Amino acid sequence: MRDADFFRQWMAAAAAAVEREADRLTELDSPIGDADHGSNLMRGFTAVRAALDADPPDTPAGVLQLAGRTLISTVGGASGPLYGTLLRRTGKELGQAADVSDEDVRKALDAGVSAVAQLGGAAPGDKTMLDALVPGVAALDTSYRAAAEAAERGAGATVPLQARKGRASYLGERSIGHQDPGATSSALLLAALADVANGPL
Ligand code: ADP
Ligand code: MG
Repeated sequence: MRDADFFRQWMAAAAAAVEREADRLTELDSPIGDADHGSNLMRGFTAVRAALDADPPDTPAGVLQLAGRTLISTVGGASGPLYGTLLRRTGKELGQAADVSDEDVRKALDAGVSAVAQLGGAAPGDKTMLDALVPGVAALDTSYRAAAEAAERGAGATVPLQARKGRASYLGERSIGHQDPGATSSALLLAALADVANGPL
């Protein structure tokens, strides 16, 4: 079973990964965006870590909902509301339990990803974070590590795609040949989850 502390550790590991990879995320956002994805997420996850440390919630839902609210209020740009929605909706699905099963986590993340698709109007193949999140969460029925690997493959597979949503879509065919920054950060989030669930490789 997974308790609030597990989800706090996930958010701390995600914050560390975003910090480590911020320059790369911003570089990916430079040819097909406005070169702010790394700094956007760093600001957001730094605030998430501070909010969770200041007043640690005692349920999984409380942790994810506070993290999601914090991302929405601190991240400028499309990714803030989208990641905020992912975490808030996932948290909501977990209810008020103090401990949740891995099957609960899988179902809740599945609902969270659907909420992201609904908010952004995107589907897999549109060259967005959903190209990592959808295959990643689908692979959760195998393992957390399989989910991280599927998300990483999904992020890599955005390179040949033409963007149909978000800022990159303004470039039309010129968006082809670049990896999507949001799919890349989504793979980092699922890798952080796998690390916390299994211990690092
Ligand atoms: P902005 O595009 O406002 O500068 P960011 O640079 O922080 O915001 O995030 C860009 C990422 O957001 C993209 O790489 C893409 O993965 C994701 N994104 C943008 N629009 C959508 C959407 N409608 N649905 C899903 N993801 C999206
Ligand atoms: Mg950007």
